[in-house]
Amino acid sequence: MTTTVTPIADSLRATYRSGATRPLAWRRRQLEQMIRMLDENEAELLAALRTDLGKPTVEGFITDLAFVTGEIKGMIKNLEKWNQPQRVSSPIVTQPARSQLRPEPLGVVLVIAPWNYPVQLLLVPVASAIAAGNAVVMKPSEVSAATSQALGRLVPRYLDSSAIALVEGGVEETTELLEQRFDHIFYTGNGTVGRIVMAAAVKHLTPVTLELGGKSPVIIDRSANLKVTARRVAWGKWLNAGQTCVAPDYVLVDESVKDEFLGHLSAAITEFYGADPHASKDYGRIITDRHFDRLVHLMNSGQPVIGGVSEATERYISPTVITDVATDSPVMSEEIFGPILPVLTITSIDEAINFITERDHPLALYVFAEDKQVVEQVLERTTSGGVTVNGTLLHLTNPNLPFGGIGESGMGGYHGESGVRLFQHMKPVLTRGTAMDPSIAYPPYTDRKAKIFRRIL
Ligand code: NAD
Repeated sequence: MTTTVTPIADSLRATYRSGATRPLAWRRRQLEQMIRMLDENEAELLAALRTDLGKPTVEGFITDLAFVTGEIKGMIKNLEKWNQPQRVSSPIVTQPARSQLRPEPLGVVLVIAPWNYPVQLLLVPVASAIAAGNAVVMKPSEVSAATSQALGRLVPRYLDSSAIALVEGGVEETTELLEQRFDHIFYTGNGTVGRIVMAAAVKHLTPVTLELGGKSPVIIDRSANLKVTARRVAWGKWLNAGQTCVAPDYVLVDESVKDEFLGHLSAAITEFYGADPHASKDYGRIITDRHFDRLVHLMNSGQPVIGGVSEATERYISPTVITDVATDSPVMSEEIFGPILPVLTITSIDEAINFITERDHPLALYVFAEDKQVVEQVLERTTSGGVTVNGTLLHLTNPNLPFGGIGESGMGGYHGESGVRLFQHMKPVLTRGTAMDPSIAYPPYTDRKAKIFRRIL
């Protein structure tokens, strides 16, 4: 593997230096080809997602394929606008002058993706980097092996291999890639590996974007519309069997409405997945035996009040809600990343806010309340990567909202314009005219010049 991996950054850099990735026509063509790739191979990719994650067909279509094509269409539509120099004003001392921010690509970008949305989390950053004019090496997760293999076959067939490469593999291959010099590294996954990526980037002073995870809380105020809340929490939690970076990790519900909320939550689960979610075609499976065992163990942290059923051969874990959970129990000490939802009670919004701010900044935060002052308090006094109010997950579907974490949940945001900007250097350029060359700025510095400076500076 070493021999195939090692030269990649260098050979793509040669393409980048040749200028081949700079014309907007080249970028547009690659982006269109990416859409074509997803379109023409939809069945193969959805089958791969089903093999890896038992991903329901509609879910795979919406959250992986259509999400990517939606993002790319936005990039194609705005390609010229997002790559145009931006005029800015010039202060008087620089006159006569014009100033601009000139977007330029960074060079060769490395994108490392995880397994939970293995098409979306690989191709959205790749497309953003291409739209910005970079050459790209992408590394899908070896854990979602079927999707990795499918993309490994398709990418070279559709995209310009002299500038866009896909490297399959796990720790060994990624470690080798990280030894090479890139101009930006975009990593999505857990924080432990995030630290490895950042440490490797130090060697070449390469900037990094880290899209990490964490425990994303849900606050449910006593003023919340509980039936709607329950449906929206259930959807966000059990999509992809809870294996979503921004999935509700735990609930802090006002104790006066806890029982009513749990009743609606149980009804929502039955409405979505039937009386036996195991038989539902719309409910996924756990990615590996290791994660299955980890999750089964986490269920012991509380009392199952909904679900609690598991089946090892299929790696099935039912939508599960647990209560009576100690705040220092294992389920509250790590990101769950599976279909178990601990429900804890609070007696005031202050208590919920304190609970959250004592912990790492979450990737996402959800607050359900009809009382606008409660919402405002939560927004004002908590820090998180992003927020959906009276809903879950949806802030990340709006390309006008940069998506990313803060602190332990990551650094840097992308989607839409922010994604393309991430892979650009906005080069400041000041251009002076030569028709006039006032001598005020030049020595000798007379008293008269000094007086003028005092007036204009
Ligand atoms: P993973 O195991 O697929 O790892 C991610 C990538 O890191 C893979 O490509 C893998 O090959 C590589 N990798 C693993 N070990 C490595 C090592 N020692 N050195 C170099 N590279 C290595 O995925 P994961 O980390 O289990 O993903 C789940 C985590 O990702 C969760 O914490 C989740 O919240 C987070 N996540 C975040 C986002 C986001 O957008 N912020 C999205 C999805 C997942």
